[in-house]
Amino acid sequence: MKKRFFSTMSILLIALACFAEGKAKYVFYFIGDGMGVNQVNAAETYLGALEGRIGIKELCFPSFPYVGLINTQSATNGVTDSAAGGTALASGNKTKNGALGVLKDLETPVTSIAHWAKDAGAAVGVTTSVSIDHATPAAFYSHVAKRGMTYEIGAQLPTSGFDFFGGSDFVKPQNPDGGPDLYAQAQAAGYTIARGYKDYQKKAKKADKMILFQPEEASKVEVGSIPYALDRTKNDLTLQDITRAAINFLMKKQSEKDGFFLMVEGGKIDWACHANDPAFISELIDMDNAVKVAYEFYQQHPDETLIVISADHETGGLVLGRGPYELNLKAVSYQRMSMDKLNRELNNMKKNLGEKFTWDETKKFLTENFGFWNGVEVNDDQAKRLENSFNEFKEGKGDAGRLSGTVKRVISECALIGWQSGGHSNGYVPAFAIGVGAEQFHGRFDNTEIPKKMAKAAGWEVK
Ligand SMILES: [Zn+2]
Repeated sequence: MKKRFFSTMSILLIALACFAEGKAKYVFYFIGDGMGVNQVNAAETYLGALEGRIGIKELCFPSFPYVGLINTQSATNGVTDSAAGGTALASGNKTKNGALGVLKDLETPVTSIAHWAKDAGAAVGVTTSVSIDHATPAAFYSHVAKRGMTYEIGAQLPTSGFDFFGGSDFVKPQNPDGGPDLYAQAQAAGYTIARGYKDYQKKAKKADKMILFQPEEASKVEVGSIPYALDRTKNDLTLQDITRAAINFLMKKQSEKDGFFLMVEGGKIDWACHANDPAFISELIDMDNAVKVAYEFYQQHPDETLIVISADHETGGLVLGRGPYELNLKAVSYQRMSMDKLNRELNNMKKNLGEKFTWDETKKFLTENFGFWNGVEVNDDQAKRLENSFNEFKEGKGDAGRLSGTVKRVISECALIGWQSGGHSNGYVPAFAIGVGAEQFHGRFDNTEIPKKMAKAAGWEVK
């Protein structure tokens, strides 16, 4: 009896050892830009509030089995920016704020986990909901002293040789020397450029390497990002589309290679939080929807897949609570558009309505699009501030931001959420993980550890 027990145990141990040696063949790295722990908490508490409850309704990725807390400070600053944060998350090296893919001497280049994966024979994708030359995606393929060098960053994209890129566009495609622009440079290096998801589907089969951008019409409105989830219309490219296309393309490529690495950035959680715009909640839920695409993939390949979600820093100094021991996140559910779109709409109204652009008309608009005076209780003081801001905008004493600024402050006041600033903070950011090697993402660690832990799970050499 005893003997049989031990032999069963040893078979179990051998099986466990074999399992532990399994490598992550498919590695997903999601980065919520500006996504501190309170941003995640806000989104889940908001979903609970929509069900009329106090407490959270679980999203997909925050429910993953392994959770860590991450330090984010950079080599030079107590509060990191996205360039230094991205470089740490991509390469495992701290650097100076503003620098991408180089050490704080601004010269010594460092390589990212995307390169390590490529060197190990994996297919590689780098994607984002903002422009492909923005700090976080750029940290995975470029090396520049200053993140503002967007043309130079874009020009380094084709030299990476990565298989798939996705984002809104290049923000500065024109060649300052008058030579071929960035689109032409990418095409010359073998990249096919698709505009929108349908165009991707048409072109993917014949493409050797792919760049997926949003349709040109969308770039005319905002070249720097795909639209906020709140502002999305039918033909807009989404982060889910980008994730789905990337998986599809990398699976095609990996048949001749060995597995894949895919980075997906939810870039506009940060933008909304910089603006103190409660639209960050729908942006975070939208990133969760993109993670769900990867999670479905994981369910089909559970013994070969690792999914890690983290962030570069917290943005806005967001807090849930303003003094009273209450929250009213349901107030956010009446918001129908981001502050960016509100500014565009207000400018259009002022231009098109002329003299008919009145406070009464504007009040009606605010009721329809933000639930003010109907669903969201607006007190006399808030009403007065809204009306004053309207008057200042109408009289030309300030731009549309004067009024949208008051609108977002009133939503936050009604929801009882607070903002410390329009910048970043050094609050802990979370890491969530599931799959092969996910148990490493447990406890408190530094942002520089994340790519190294992922590489270890995949068996890729850290360089
Ligand atoms: Zn950032």
